[in-house]
Amino acid sequence: MERRIGLLGGGQLGQMLCEAANPLGAKIWVLDAAGSPAKQINARTSHVDGSFTDPEKIRELARQVDILTVEIEHVDTHVLEEIAERGVQVTAADGSKSVKTVEVQPSWKTIRTIQDKYLQKDHLTRGGVKTAVSMAVEGSNLEAVGRELGYPFMLKSRKDAYDGRGNYPVKSSADISDALEALAGKSLYAEKWANFRLELAVMVVKTENDTSDCGKSTIAYSVVETVHEDSVCKLVYAPPRDVSVIVQQEAQDLARKAVGSFPGKGVFGVELFLLPDGELIVNEIAPRPHNSGHWTIEGCPTMSQFKSQLLAILGLMPSFPNSTIPAMFPATVMLNILGGKTQTSHNKLMNMAIAAPAGALHMYGKDSKPGRKIGHITVIGSSLSEAEALIAPLIAVADDIRA
Ligand code: ATP
Ligand code: MG
Ligand code: MG
Repeated sequence: MERRIGLLGGGQLGQMLCEAANPLGAKIWVLDAAGSPAKQINARTSHVDGSFTDPEKIRELARQVDILTVEIEHVDTHVLEEIAERGVQVTAADGSKSVKTVEVQPSWKTIRTIQDKYLQKDHLTRGGVKTAVSMAVEGSNLEAVGRELGYPFMLKSRKDAYDGRGNYPVKSSADISDALEALAGKSLYAEKWANFRLELAVMVVKTENDTSDCGKSTIAYSVVETVHEDSVCKLVYAPPRDVSVIVQQEAQDLARKAVGSFPGKGVFGVELFLLPDGELIVNEIAPRPHNSGHWTIEGCPTMSQFKSQLLAILGLMPSFPNSTIPAMFPATVMLNILGGKTQTSHNKLMNMAIAAPAGALHMYGKDSKPGRKIGHITVIGSSLSEAEALIAPLIAVADDIRA
């Protein structure tokens, strides 16, 4: 594995990317704070200590690698554009300067569009992919937004959102001032409420840079059902519990079409709403490995989402029959471990996962804080009902420790 990879962000996604890189002999240089989860488990390279939003640190990382990628979309895309289009200046030991070419994957254009949810939705809509109806919010005209979209509607931060931090459900006009206060200082937009029957997600791998082939250079994993609580992902069911094969196929097709419209290579997480009338719309897309794809570590052990990310950006992704990567076990269920009231609230859950022969525990090496994602558990079953029975007592404990 010749090409050196630079990663912006060293959280749990970066950690699991490094876990997938090691057996491939791939080397990853991580830019994030010293001791971040990805650095804790990767001593193969020297890494860069600093912020993945600091242009000078990003250039420092770029000087050491051949290809840059991200585990988070909230990065400075202007410096990524500069590096991708004009390279990065390096100084040799004798003081001579030269320009080094560095590839950025997925494209900085894709990261720039996706990191602003309002621009992302506009891009999807123009490409014929349906999303929740969105409205720009100028100043504080939320009364007018409420009249247009009806109540409830979701007020969202355009940028820097994750785990529902950046979302405020506005149930009536009485909530408007609280919503504006909660999201003060952020650039906002509003979304029509989606009365979904359930939420689905599809991980999609994009293997070519261009966008001309309407998603043909994309490969879809099996569809999963995601369950969110207070806007935070709690559970992922692969396969979904009550969704027809036809709807699953439609979800994969829609996800491939959506991802096919973005330039660059890599793995993408596509979150979908399944509406009561059977219609599917896109909630949002992540240009990177995603929580709804963690099940693939055990569910697709020879081709997890993290391995796909590496192979795709390196241009080494194999092709798959029907452009799909099927689950290799009948059923997997993933449960997130969120920090509880105390530093040790989650210990019981960890011990139960360790004691379960069909369970896999992943702790991220993060300090526990109330509500913070600090790990996850995946169980494998020979049927969905068996997997559900295995996870049920773990869900009960997770509910118990919830802060
Ligand atoms: P993450 O990136 O961690 O998935 P996020 O902060 O970007 O989260 P969203 O995906 O926008 O947040 O929303 C989180 C959850 O809130 C959704 O999965 C869904 O459960 C709910 N939600 C979001 N938008 C809407 C909507 N328009 N109508 C109803 N529910 C919504
Ligand atoms: Mg998001
Ligand atoms: Mg989301």
